[in-house]
Amino acid sequence: MTNTFPPDRILLGPGPSDVHPSVLEALGRPLLGHLDPAFLPVLDGICDQLRTVFRTSNSATLPISGTGSAGLEACMVNLIEPGDDVVVGVNGVFGGRLAEVARRAGATVSTVEREWGRIIEPEAFIEAARGAKVAAIVHAETSTGAHQPVAEIGAALAETNTLLVLDTVTSLAGVDVDIDGWGVDAAYSGTQKCLSVPPGLSPVTFSPKAVEALKSRSTPVQSWYLDLSLILAYVDGEGGRTYHHTAPISMLYGLQAGLDHVLAEGLRARWDRHARLGSMLQDGLSEMGLPLLAQEGHRLPQLTTVGLPDGIDEAPTRRRMLDEYGIEVGGGLGQFAGKAWRIGLMGHSASERNVRLVLAAMRDLLG
Ligand SMILES: *Cc1c(COP(=O)(O)O)cnc(C)c1O
Repeated sequence: MTNTFPPDRILLGPGPSDVHPSVLEALGRPLLGHLDPAFLPVLDGICDQLRTVFRTSNSATLPISGTGSAGLEACMVNLIEPGDDVVVGVNGVFGGRLAEVARRAGATVSTVEREWGRIIEPEAFIEAARGAKVAAIVHAETSTGAHQPVAEIGAALAETNTLLVLDTVTSLAGVDVDIDGWGVDAAYSGTQKCLSVPPGLSPVTFSPKAVEALKSRSTPVQSWYLDLSLILAYVDGEGGRTYHHTAPISMLYGLQAGLDHVLAEGLRARWDRHARLGSMLQDGLSEMGLPLLAQEGHRLPQLTTVGLPDGIDEAPTRRRMLDEYGIEVGGGLGQFAGKAWRIGLMGHSASERNVRLVLAAMRDLLG
């Protein structure tokens, strides 16, 4: 038996975030079967908690087995049939991923592209989405730190047949997400960002309009594993529970414990905490003379992209941050690769102590 206990880290990258010890403890609870009458109320409770966090009354609200990308894929493949017109906003890595999944599902995809770090103006997206079956956009672009406005897009599309899909992987429980208020038809998230639960589950929610589109498909969903109508036969208690795939029981205990923390803090208090600490970090970086790369006025508090001074070797410096300070930050992706860091303040990681630590470490390493 090998003993390879992991080193102590402070997770200030683009996810995973630090996890409260009570969430880790929940992962070690005794296993139950996925059809055990003692387990089903746990699952039902999680779906209720997710409705509160997504701010929705959608009955089709559940944790998909798999990371955020599984939720992304579930939203797209359940709504797309071959030949459907799909519009995707692309201003970073995750918009690109949405477009790629849509193409693989057989859609005819058009993109609304913007420079990395900038948002997509709602009017431009609404115009492009006109007549499409599905329009998909990223709320919190973790590759750039841009905070996409959604309310206006949702309001405009609600009066049309277009289904609005929203990536809330990094936004959920970090900034306001209002699925019903904005008229979002399908949204997905991930557990390891602002929910502060280990990676492995993807909360999703489908509006009645999206469920209707799923029911009136003329072709089967491309993915058997992610076919929501099959999954709902297990999750949604009506008519008895049917086995589809084995629910990841331990992960679900962890998610329940994480959601308990989110709801005990309160959504508004949690958004305020992220907003306050994000400003504190961004002000500190600006005082150091470092450029913030996301569009001013549309910066996420929970994910900051910051440019590094000329002459700094990005990867070795980031490695020193890990080895000498125990702090993980993310490197830049795409156009920002080698030139920027991505600093996450997500969920349990978003504390004043961590902001002070990362700023002090950066002054030392970059100074
Ligand atoms: C992390 C992330 C994803 C993908 O989630 P995985 O858990 O890595 O599969 C998708 N979209 C955004 C915005 C993300 O930040």
